[in-house]
Amino acid sequence: MIDQTKRILSDLVAFPTVSADSNLDMIAYLANQLEDCGAQVDVLTDGSGRKANLFATLGPLRDGGIVLSGHSDVVPVTDQNWATDPFKMVERDDLLFGRGTCDMKGFIAATLAMAPVFAQQVRDQPLHFAFTYDEETGCIGARHLAQNLTERSIKPSLAIIGEPTNMRVIDGHKGCYEYSTHFQGLEGHGSAPDCGVNAIEFAVRYVSRLLDLRDELKLMAPNDSRFEPPWTTVNLGALNGGQVHNVIAPRATVDWEMRPVQASDADFVNEALKTFCDEVLLPSMRLVYPDASIVTEVIGEIAGLMPADENEILKIVSELTGINRADVVSFGTEAGIFQSLGMDVVVCGPGSIEQAHKANEFLAVDQLDQCLKMLEGLGAKLSEPPNQ
Ligand SMILES: [Zn+2]
Repeated sequence: MIDQTKRILSDLVAFPTVSADSNLDMIAYLANQLEDCGAQVDVLTDGSGRKANLFATLGPLRDGGIVLSGHSDVVPVTDQNWATDPFKMVERDDLLFGRGTCDMKGFIAATLAMAPVFAQQVRDQPLHFAFTYDEETGCIGARHLAQNLTERSIKPSLAIIGEPTNMRVIDGHKGCYEYSTHFQGLEGHGSAPDCGVNAIEFAVRYVSRLLDLRDELKLMAPNDSRFEPPWTTVNLGALNGGQVHNVIAPRATVDWEMRPVQASDADFVNEALKTFCDEVLLPSMRLVYPDASIVTEVIGEIAGLMPADENEILKIVSELTGINRADVVSFGTEAGIFQSLGMDVVVCGPGSIEQAHKANEFLAVDQLDQCLKMLEGLGAKLSEPPNQ
């Protein structure tokens, strides 16, 4: 099985599925292999026709069952110093080098190698494969897939997201919400501040409100939060505006993010900021310039994976890996999107996030082996009669 997995991984690495480029060839390859195993395969193309999600099912088409999920895209290799061709897998000292080996084509290859076995094992519960596009640029494919599953009333109950965790079992990560807030004021001579609307000034007042909210968020951390730090954080990434000393700055932009430990914190911050803009900043700006505006552009809102008290797939994967404790991690994944569909979700996959996104990315063969063992155990479970 490991040799077959390595062969598939080598094929997958050879598809240069950098997020900016098409992933259609790789999706066609995956679709073919799954169809050969008797899976019902749906390829879901995006609006541009250059990207696609794949959703495939072995076993009965009914509610429930498990989703094995991975993203098909990889980060660029530009400006990285690779010792080998990043899109040609090379094995050296039991390490498999190549872009995407750990993040996260290794997991996809393992699920694909196991697919013919799973096909023999599935009984009453379906086993699904969900391979998405554009995870690295904001989980766009997964959101598209979620919408599609909802429209088609397909309701799997459990999901394993195979992002690289060194095969540790992860049941939580914070969300990552990124915004750019644009302020449009009115230009004027620096000597007559009351005749213009200084966008920088309003941006600074906005930032000041955001910092107050940041302090409030610290007090709102759930008592049992396992995150580090335990509360929702806010970061100011960039503040840009204006040109020269003696001109009232007509435009300013604040780039900021928050990492919610609970979805309600994000709502709290966004609502508080909206109220502040609507009731305080905008009326004051529009007194001088009726066309003044504050527009918040959503760069990405990646839902967190919130640890749940009851998590069926956590029990299963813990049993299969022999790891009895679940951890939380600081990186974001598509897991929160699957959780929002009502599924129990864990993140567990081969390789280390340490190697992800870097030059000379690699996956240890031993990790791939452990992943296959976990999937073999899962296959055996699929063939058990229900309620056992
Ligand atoms: Zn990834």
